[in-house]
Formats: sequence, structure tokens, C-alpha cells
Amino acid sequence: MAPKVQFIREDGLYHSFCGLVSVGWLYQKIKDSFFLILGTHTCAHLLQNTLGVMIFARPRFAVSLLEEADLSSSAPSLESQIAEIRAEHKPSVIFLLSSCTPEVMKVEFEGLAHSLSTPELPVLFVPASGLDYTFAQSEDSVLQALIPFCPVAPPEDKRLVFLGSVNDAIAEDFALEAARLGIPVAGFLPAAHFHELPPIGPGTIIAPLQPYLAKTATQLRNERDATIVTTLFPFGPDGTRRFWEDVALAFDIKVDLSEREAAAWQRISEHTALLRGKKIFFASDILMELPLARFLRNAGAEVLECSTPYINRRFHAAELEQLNGIRLVEQANFDRQLRDIAEQQPDLVISNMITSNPLIGRGIVAKWGTEFCFMPVHGWSGVNTLAQMFTRALRRHARLDPLGSDAIWTAGLMPSASGDVIPLR
Ligand code: SF4
Repeated sequence: MAPKVQFIREDGLYHSFCGLVSVGWLYQKIKDSFFLILGTHTCAHLLQNTLGVMIFARPRFAVSLLEEADLSSSAPSLESQIAEIRAEHKPSVIFLLSSCTPEVMKVEFEGLAHSLSTPELPVLFVPASGLDYTFAQSEDSVLQALIPFCPVAPPEDKRLVFLGSVNDAIAEDFALEAARLGIPVAGFLPAAHFHELPPIGPGTIIAPLQPYLAKTATQLRNERDATIVTTLFPFGPDGTRRFWEDVALAFDIKVDLSEREAAAWQRISEHTALLRGKKIFFASDILMELPLARFLRNAGAEVLECSTPYINRRFHAAELEQLNGIRLVEQANFDRQLRDIAEQQPDLVISNMITSNPLIGRGIVAKWGTEFCFMPVHGWSGVNTLAQMFTRALRRHARLDPLGSDAIWTAGLMPSASGDVIPLR
């Protein structure tokens, strides 16, 4: 049932980062894949600059550049590029990603991908342009494209599938934890290799690891009759405990992880001491804002506002229930946020890649939300990294703060927003 928690939708002109960036983690996760983007020099610059990959590293992604002469064509020819990719990289699957210009030109991507596909080497269309998709959301499109290639599991096959891309070490942790709790695992979507996709059917229990995969979860529910666990996302001691208890319950296994949770809070007590009472404002675009805000509130911080590009009442139900009393905004108006930030003086703003530097220029402590997408912050093993990501920004600012007293700095202490002093690490 959808939670009663209310949120505001401002339909602001959202300063969001392009969805193509998720290629940065997906090409590393799916090790026999290739990502081909049909785009312009702008897209090529974006990928080169944000992903910082050297040409000689032969990354498994590329931009097929549209030149002026192509602008009149709604069906660009990609055969020679596909042949080159096949010869050089020998991928098992090619993802063909759209971008703004060809979408405006009405390139018929579905047909194009179909015409390039062979039984040995599927070419899958992935809508990902910055016109429609925010940062991280195109992982949802990639996973949707993979669903038809997941074998159909029979109804009696009751096993767990983790939904969402996490790095290999974190994936291993989740598999080990499931084994420890006696939960049978069928695999991960996405898997590390195209031909290792997990079987999914009516007996499958889906455990979402990432909060930006609502479309894939809905499609698995509708097309494969799979059960999606409604729970918190596994971020922080609170989210990880609830995640595992609910996943176990889906297999009729009752576990009480309260001691494990308490021990994890204890491990990060140095960080929670710093976060306690801090005013935090979310103005980012990564779609991880709801679980991050929930973790911060449970860590003792005051969340002034949690804005996010998209809220799905069903997929985010458990997180929404936890955020009662916090101002929740979908598609926030950034001008209004700037006024609120000036008035409310948060200790930390989680912002996006476009707005961080201007905010810092105004003397505000801001952190790129983007970093949370690239860091191992999931599960029990990610607890410390997660907490540290918030406190590092506060500590760095304290070290640079020209208003701090020298006597305090030399004693290794920083002033908090409330005027207390807090030990530096
Ligand atoms: Fe820019 Fe659109 Fe290309 Fe993304 S897809 S880099 S928003 S032109």
C-alpha cells in the first residue's frame, strides 16, 4: 500500500546531469559489453571529461559522432562501426544509446538496433538522452533491455535476485551474507557477463539494491510475475538491517539483526558525533536522495530538505515512510532552493555536478551527490565509507574555514554550527 507521506512536486527546470554517465560504471560491471552512443561532440566531451578515461586504455564505450551531413538522416549507418567493435573488443552484447540530437532528429533507434543485431551479437537499444533521463536513471533502461535475455525460471525455483549494479567486492559481500542467512541466490541483474544473467520467474524474489530502478522492477513484476521486496535500500546500519530482515522474511526466515545494527552504528560513532545536529540540504539529482536522507536523520542530522528528480510511491514506499516530517520535493525549483539555502544556512548541501562549484563560490559547503554513485556504500561493508563521505566534506571545510580561530585549529578541534568544538580526526 502506498504510504501517506506527502511530497511537493515543483516541476522546476531541473539542473540535472546527463544520463549517459551511467555508462561509466555499467561498462565496468558487464565485462563483455560494449556501449555505443550515437551522439555529438558534446556527448563525447562529457564522457571523456567525466569518466577521465585515456584513449590508450581502449575503454569499452564509444561515441559514434553525428556530423553536419548526418543531420538530415533519420537512419545513420553504423554497420562499419559495429564490425570494428566486434573485431577489436569481441563483446557479447552491444548497447546502442540514444542522445539528445538524434532523438530530436527522430532517429528510429529500435529499428536501427534490430537491423544491426545478430543471434551471436545482440545490439540493444537503450534510451538514455539527457532530454529525458537524469543521471543514474539510464541504468534502469539498460537493465530493462536485458530482461528478455534472462532465462525464464519455473515457478518452483524460489531464489533471490539482487537488482542493481554494485562493484564486485560489494556483490560478493551480498552473496556471502545471503548464504550466511540461508537465502538461496540465483544471481544479480546485471550479471558480470551477458551469458550469466539470472533466471527469473514467478518464484523469484527481487531485492533492489539501487533506488533508481523502478521501471525494471515494475517490468519484472508484470512480465515475469516476480516478487519485489518492499524494504529499505541497504545504505547505512539502519537500511542494511531492515533490508536483510525483510529479504529473509520473504523466504520465511526470521532474523533479528539488531545487535549487528548496533555494532555498525558503534563502528561509525566518530562520524555520527560529527553529523549530530548538522543541518543538511539535498539539492542533487542522483535518485539516491531518499535513502541517504533517511540514514542521515537516523545518524542524528537534521535534514532541512530532501529533493530528488523522481519519487515512485510504490518502489520507494518503505523509504518514504521513514521520512515523515522531512520536506520532500520532487523536481525542485533550484531558484527557490537557492533562496532557502541562503535563509536556512545548512551546514552541508548535497548538490549536483552543475551546481556544486557555484554554491561553493558562495561560501556554502557543498558535496557532489554524484560521488555516491561511484563509491562502495552498500551493505554492512559500505557503512564506514558512507558515513565518511558526509563527514569528509565537513572536515575539509573546517580545515579551510578562514573564520576559525588558530587556537582551535592547533588543538585539532573544529567549531560546529552550534558553536561547540568537535575533535578533528
Ligand atoms: Fe549533452 Fe544530451 Fe549528449 Fe547528454 S545526451 S551529453 S545532455 S547532448
